[in-house]
Amino acid sequence: MSVPFADLQLQYQTIKGAIDDAIAAVIRDNAFIRGSYVDRFERDFASAVSVEHCVSCANGTDALYLVMAALNVRPGDEVITTAHSWISTAAMITHAGATVKFCDTDGATFTIDPAAVEAAITPRTVGIIPVHLYGQPADMAAIMAIAEKHRLWVIEDCAQAHLAQFDGQAVGTFGAAATYSFYPGKNLGAMGDAGAVVTKDPELAERIAMLARHGGLVKHQHHIEGINSRLDGLQAAILSAKLPHLVGWTKARQEAAKRYDSALSQIEAIEIPQVVSGRDHVYHLYTIKHPKRDELAAYLASKGIQTAVNYPTALPFLPAYSRFGHRPEDFPHAFRDQSRILSLPMFAEITAAQQQDVVEGIRSFR
Ligand SMILES: *Cc1c(COP(=O)(O)O)cnc(C)c1O
Repeated sequence: MSVPFADLQLQYQTIKGAIDDAIAAVIRDNAFIRGSYVDRFERDFASAVSVEHCVSCANGTDALYLVMAALNVRPGDEVITTAHSWISTAAMITHAGATVKFCDTDGATFTIDPAAVEAAITPRTVGIIPVHLYGQPADMAAIMAIAEKHRLWVIEDCAQAHLAQFDGQAVGTFGAAATYSFYPGKNLGAMGDAGAVVTKDPELAERIAMLARHGGLVKHQHHIEGINSRLDGLQAAILSAKLPHLVGWTKARQEAAKRYDSALSQIEAIEIPQVVSGRDHVYHLYTIKHPKRDELAAYLASKGIQTAVNYPTALPFLPAYSRFGHRPEDFPHAFRDQSRILSLPMFAEITAAQQQDVVEGIRSFR
């Protein structure tokens, strides 16, 4: 009895022919940088997530930077984001030149609390970056209402939320732009680093594309100062080969989550993920709460069951943000959660038997 946290090798084995063919085609066509495979993936991904324009880039971190740079974020600007995310979300606000303003989560969904967003707004605020953490959409109705009222832009960090929906509307279609990561372990993963921005706004899309490609779309014509952040042809072809499976993989994750929900809700001391009605969770991660998280994780590890903590320290309490001098009482939910959260094995191919082993492991923990 041993259950991996995720199993990328198994996913590869199920579609090995298509992946191997895709890689061979890129090598045959010498299409390593830009080229038809990248163009095709951008078109296909835009259509898969119901947005007009997709600009691919090197990773999900660059995607966040590129949107803010394209939106002309400036020193003195304040950008609001959640206390509970991967560090890229906050770090790119700083690298784009603005100041990070953290907000606590809502205490139930691990996503940003709209009331905290409203309270954090100052005359310097220019935008909000909600994160659809673990695959559950943030409260986009409330966030968009706040953004409209205060004339702020919204960038949705969709790195963990491919195909998630809020009230039947695809995530990534609410704000000015949305960013995706195709890090290998994400719900749609490359075989290396990869990312993208999607937006309805053609001018914003063009500016982002220029910034990602040395400041111009035509060689030697540099209209602005850009960076080098490109999706390579191999990753694009691999992603295109995987994309047709994303709907099925997402359903499989949701079914696995249902199985965990019904088994784990019988066990005292476990808090299963709370999903608000109208929010279509895609379970990049299935994260429970337990008061003795570290002991439980060690016990499961001794039984061969891999778990992970996403993330052990909430962003405001990381050394990277010590300059703000934040205290636990500033972000009580994020602070409380950081010592309780535990992500269980979750991947499209996980079997009911493997999940039963996880559940039995948790049940036998004392
Ligand atoms: C993975 C992730 C990122 C960064 O994506 P990379 O492709 O690893 O750079 C950003 N935000 C969130 C919420 C993520 O999970």
